[in-house]
Amino acid sequence: MKASQYNIATLKEVPADAEIVSHQLLIRAGFIRKVASGIYNWLPIGLRVLQKVEGIIRQEMNSSGALEVMMPVVQPAELWQESGRWGEYDEGMLLKFNDRHQRAFCLGPTHEEVITDLAKTELKSHKQLPINFYQIQTKFRDETRPRFGVLRAREFIMKDAYSFHVNDESLEETYQLMHDTYTRILKRMQLNFRPVLADTGNIGGSASIEFHVLADSGEDKIAFSTKSDYAANVEMAEALAPPEETTEPKVLEEIATPYAGTIEEVSSLLKVGADRMIKTLIVKGTDTPLVALAIRGDHQLNELKAEKVSGITVPLTMATNAEIQAACNASPGSVGIVGLDLPIVADRSAAVLRNFVCGANNDGFHLLNVNWDRDVSHSIVCDLRDVVEGDPSPDGNGEIQFKRGIEVGHIFQLGNKYSKAMNATVLDDNGNAVVMSMGCYGMGVTRLVGAIIEQNHDENGIVWPAVIAPFHVVIIVINAHKSKQVTKVADEIYTQLSDNNIEILLDDRDGYRPGVKFADSELLGIPYRIVIGERGLANDVVEVTERRSGDINDVALDDVVEKLTGLVQQDLKQ
Ligand code: ATP
Ligand code: MG
Repeated sequence: MKASQYNIATLKEVPADAEIVSHQLLIRAGFIRKVASGIYNWLPIGLRVLQKVEGIIRQEMNSSGALEVMMPVVQPAELWQESGRWGEYDEGMLLKFNDRHQRAFCLGPTHEEVITDLAKTELKSHKQLPINFYQIQTKFRDETRPRFGVLRAREFIMKDAYSFHVNDESLEETYQLMHDTYTRILKRMQLNFRPVLADTGNIGGSASIEFHVLADSGEDKIAFSTKSDYAANVEMAEALAPPEETTEPKVLEEIATPYAGTIEEVSSLLKVGADRMIKTLIVKGTDTPLVALAIRGDHQLNELKAEKVSGITVPLTMATNAEIQAACNASPGSVGIVGLDLPIVADRSAAVLRNFVCGANNDGFHLLNVNWDRDVSHSIVCDLRDVVEGDPSPDGNGEIQFKRGIEVGHIFQLGNKYSKAMNATVLDDNGNAVVMSMGCYGMGVTRLVGAIIEQNHDENGIVWPAVIAPFHVVIIVINAHKSKQVTKVADEIYTQLSDNNIEILLDDRDGYRPGVKFADSELLGIPYRIVIGERGLANDVVEVTERRSGDINDVALDDVVEKLTGLVQQDLKQ
């Protein structure tokens, strides 16, 4: 590709709304342009990168045996009503509209309904199973806070696959196969990533793993073990029970704590660590009575875990001050678990404490030396809190530490949630209708482009791995207008490298200073740069720079094609 006939659209300025590096660089390097909030154009050079990401995904999905299909972006409401998600799917995310006949539609944020309907009509016999359909298609989610460029867009491209099975064993096999396929895809992209235990959210189902690209800019916090492969989304990581304390119970005392309501205030007033205190949170479900949750003062409630505690109908919300006053006869700052006439659920770490502090259910007072069995009755104990760094890893190996990640993939065992609701069955050997089991496997194609940049950049721009790079080599000619030989040599190297399937950008732009071309080549992130100028040619050499290391070498003119071909081919093989 000759730059003079291409669209090199680099910018000097960082756009004001671009908070993180991948967003800034994608715009500055001229890969994308904003159309509206969370909606982007992909310019020619950006599309080349996007298609490489798609290409790797498509190749690995095909070799896993999955079959590519294409489903519509526009989906009729009826299918979502059939699955029960028309009113249930994350409020606001679904962009709904009517056609000219007042028939309701939405823009697909995901495709479980459409694929289940398709499978229901196309699959008749268990002999057609297992089968895994996938597509690479545009999704629309009306995200509350679109940001970070392509990382959290409203319109984005996802690879989504859906597998169908006659039983759960077969589902587990394909789920594992997709786990391996995702691992291969992300390795080929040379990403530093981790599979992470995840919540199944509103897509439903049982087992689920997210694939996270590690990056400080990631929106998700992941709990890792310092010693093993254990990794879980923080909201999912289990907090184990610490050993029981053994100190002898002391005499219970009520103590005045005027003007102290928060844990910090009471802690500094009484000179007791927050880890020796218990906070009592009064919560309710949509149609359940109040429940008291007891958490250690220095810990945070994990609502997801609390929602799983029996008796609370999701979503869980905090009780109002008036409800707390009525139930506990105290304001929230003085609520405690002693003498409380509500079901009490205690976190494991709170349940092992002895001689702790909690509210007295008497405004302006707290209790000292509270002990579970002696002073509090009828509590159940479970895991209710977020893990913190230093907690023992739930697999018994090492300690928890946190890192941030960008979720680029998510695999689920859906079971029969959709197939049952939509009556998608096949006939078994005996001619009986069996509801199919399903798996679903998403991967963010456009998000991956941003995630790759988050891990591959320096102060001068993007540093693409060769497998993703829009071009493998950029050739810069110096003062071509003054020297016919420079142009001739550049054209020869360009032709010969192209014949070897090396993708080249020949920067032959007239009227651009060499410094501008150098800066552009670095911003664009092209792995190798060849500089051809009169001075080098006088010694029969050209200058070759490797983008990632910055290493610069003179290479003999006769060797340059072979050398660059070898380097690129080796990079592509990795
Ligand atoms: P997130 O938690 O980041 O909002 P999600 O869990 O809602 O994502 P899934 O429904 O699991 O997303 O979708 C599968 C994949 O699609 C995600 O793993 C992610 O890579 C990609 N994806 C989801 N939402 C977006 C978005 N707004 N912009 C770009 N990619 C997205
Ligand atoms: Mg997800």
